[in-house]
Amino acid sequence: DLTLDVAKLRRDFPILDREVHGKPLIYLDNAATSQTPRQVIEVYDDYYGRYNANIHRGLHTLSDEATAAFEGTRETVRAFLNAADHREIVFTRGTTEAINLVANAWGRANLKAGDEVLISRLEHHSNIVPWQLLAGELGFTIKVIPVDERGVLDLAAYRDLFTERTRLVAVNHVSNAFGTVNPVAEMARVAHEHGARILIDGAQAAPHQAIDVQAIDADFYAFSGHKVYGPTGVGVLYGRAELLEAMPPWQGGGEMIKTVSLEVPTTFADIPHKFEAGTPAIAEVIALGRALRWVSDIGLDLIGAWEARLLEHATEGVAGIEGLRILGTAPDKAGVLSFVVDGAHSQDIGLLIDQLGVAIRTGHHCAQPLLSQFGLDATCRASFAAYNTPEEIDVFVEGLERVVGMLR
Ligand code: PMP
Repeated sequence: DLTLDVAKLRRDFPILDREVHGKPLIYLDNAATSQTPRQVIEVYDDYYGRYNANIHRGLHTLSDEATAAFEGTRETVRAFLNAADHREIVFTRGTTEAINLVANAWGRANLKAGDEVLISRLEHHSNIVPWQLLAGELGFTIKVIPVDERGVLDLAAYRDLFTERTRLVAVNHVSNAFGTVNPVAEMARVAHEHGARILIDGAQAAPHQAIDVQAIDADFYAFSGHKVYGPTGVGVLYGRAELLEAMPPWQGGGEMIKTVSLEVPTTFADIPHKFEAGTPAIAEVIALGRALRWVSDIGLDLIGAWEARLLEHATEGVAGIEGLRILGTAPDKAGVLSFVVDGAHSQDIGLLIDQLGVAIRTGHHCAQPLLSQFGLDATCRASFAAYNTPEEIDVFVEGLERVVGMLR
């Protein structure tokens, strides 16, 4: 039996002690950002109190210590993703920047007019807009993998979209709006069969399931620190070494060069530093490493199983609310419960339930193309993390019943 010691784990999160409108906080907006354990918060005190220094410029103790902690995190991330080589881990500001890096560095070098890029209707705007911007400049075509009524990608249609001009598939591992878990290993296999590359947006997968980029056979994989119990301002791009090596740099500046000359061509650092121009978010990277160790100590299998129980409990709980419709009913689903209620605006539900101390998200979840297929411009979304409990979900469901009763 898989059970998490939730009471113990909750004590790691100072924020869970706070009240909102005089009620205990029940935080169910984890798909937007997760809360941060004190072990991660303490990294900041330690770093700024003891060894704050710029990295890679060494020759003094503080800089050496900061560099060791920063580069040590690269190894932590490598292990977290089961990448083959720590040089395949590039630190970015987040998933959004990681995707923009691939678009601008790989995309500019590999895409031209007439080429085709496949994205899905499930994508977050951050995996749509960078491709639209680039397509506007380079003239390639974006084709869209359709989604069925349950929020599941149509794999037969996916296979049919490939032509000899398909260069890239850009798809999320888990949908933030509906929670759908996509069969990314199978999708990678099909992409590779057609000589295309695959970029996987793992922003919503990394907090909930063990990731193995080699087993998936991902070419690129991106995630954000702040959704996996870490800080904002930092994220990761995994890229297969030979792809990163062949890619031109994106941003120029310090740290990413070997030699700079005004007379002969400037030469660039080896990967991954070629893609890390300027002083990075040093404390954030180190804190991300601490977050990933916190997650690994508990175990993603345990966390995923716990969240599946929470999802089931919540799904059963809201089933009794008349006129409530769940969006996203994929058989393989992460801890995301997206719903609308007849006669009650999502925004109003969100505002009123906040008065009860319950934080959920309302809106389009940066997935307007997906919601538009369902004739919606907003849903309510409750999303779960390791520290949530069935008791909290009971309070959420009772609160939702009350709020809906008030609104109609
Ligand atoms: N992709 C998905 C699936 C997401 O859920 C998010 C965050 N909501 C992002 C990308 C963007 O992540 P970030 O804002 O941290 O760059």
